[in-house]
Amino acid sequence: MKPEQLNDSLFSFIKQSPTPFHAAAVIRDKLVQEGFTQLDEGHTWNLENGGKYVVVRHGALIAFTLSDFSQLTKGFRIIGAHTDSPSLQLKPQSSSTSKSYFKIGVEKYGGALLHTWFDRELSLAGNVTAQCADGRYYNYLLDFESPILYIPSLAIHLERKANEGREINVQNDLSPIFAQKAIADGKSWNKFLVERINSQHPDADAQSVEGHDLFCYDCAAPGYFGVESEFISAPRLDNLLSCCVGLQAILDMENKNNCMLIFSNHEEIGSTSYSGALGNFGNLVLARICGNFDTYGVCLHNSFLLSLDNAHATHPNFLDKNDPDHEILLNHGPVIKLNSSQRYCSNAKSGAIFRIICAEAGVTPQDFVMRSDMLSGSTIGPFATAELGVQGIDVGAPTWAMHSIREVTGTTDPEFLYRSSRHFFEREALPSIGKI
Ligand code: ZN
Repeated sequence: MKPEQLNDSLFSFIKQSPTPFHAAAVIRDKLVQEGFTQLDEGHTWNLENGGKYVVVRHGALIAFTLSDFSQLTKGFRIIGAHTDSPSLQLKPQSSSTSKSYFKIGVEKYGGALLHTWFDRELSLAGNVTAQCADGRYYNYLLDFESPILYIPSLAIHLERKANEGREINVQNDLSPIFAQKAIADGKSWNKFLVERINSQHPDADAQSVEGHDLFCYDCAAPGYFGVESEFISAPRLDNLLSCCVGLQAILDMENKNNCMLIFSNHEEIGSTSYSGALGNFGNLVLARICGNFDTYGVCLHNSFLLSLDNAHATHPNFLDKNDPDHEILLNHGPVIKLNSSQRYCSNAKSGAIFRIICAEAGVTPQDFVMRSDMLSGSTIGPFATAELGVQGIDVGAPTWAMHSIREVTGTTDPEFLYRSSRHFFEREALPSIGKI
């Protein structure tokens, strides 16, 4: 696959996926269209040899192929990633007036780089629960798509020290403006949401919204920049880039091994949730596939997790923020992330396995470690390998401006990651590392 082809898919996936709920739905729809069967956690499963399946749980998704159902003890090749990104989440009672303007109350979701949320055309999307005309309650995906929100900066004339390290108070400074009061009068926020549900889901006949998980997002489309278009700028590259790469790898692979995608929600807020990597979703699906405890144990022992999440590329204006012996460059291949405190799950053995896979795929990996005087970030890797009891490695595309409303990666980086991910799925057996 050419880098541009994969990038086209990535751009369209990002546009369709303003929230984890949308990302999981888009991936599920694509998999079903390509022959995967959707399973319901609330029913028993009749899995078949050669079958391909997908399960969705509240913004998380697990997909798997049973190319050899009789050989479950060989384990699964698993690609893990997360569907959520830092954002601003709407409060339950989300409309408030400020003199003549209608503004929305928000909470910070995850470690958002807050100053980047000012002066942008923002829209709103997420999951809403509504009571409909038949008296029952239903969930709907909602996306306003157009720029309905905006957080204007305060002019520098009114805050002369704005460029000298201004603090941002989420409660006071970050409420998006929605309308002028005159326009909003007589039309409650709840009614506004109901109208949108009914226009986006014509059969809904919603009467009132009873709850919502709604997030603000940047309306600007992903695109290229640089003299030779060597860079990509886009919202939510962390971690929709990895979801897109994993999805493409499982769709394109030669169907020889038992393979799996585990895309978790809530990584940005610590992974402890019903649909997060510290929940039981992955374990439960693997247990249901294996059927008995002995097979399950051997299957996990022989499985391997390739945990994909973006990595910090060395920033040319802040060279001293990365370890000087481990420069990470855009457009130079996937980054293996290492940390002595196991904030990443990589180790010598899993690193060697991935390096062999990369070499065979014609890709050269880079090694990232945090400076020893700075705290490391983390990923789903340590949680998922601990919860599942599988070996694994943390790898990702090099990225600038992680957790900004727009992040940057190299134009060829998604394809490098795809090539190594696809070979990870397809290789006859994982490289074996002998014991001493
Ligand atoms: Zn991430």
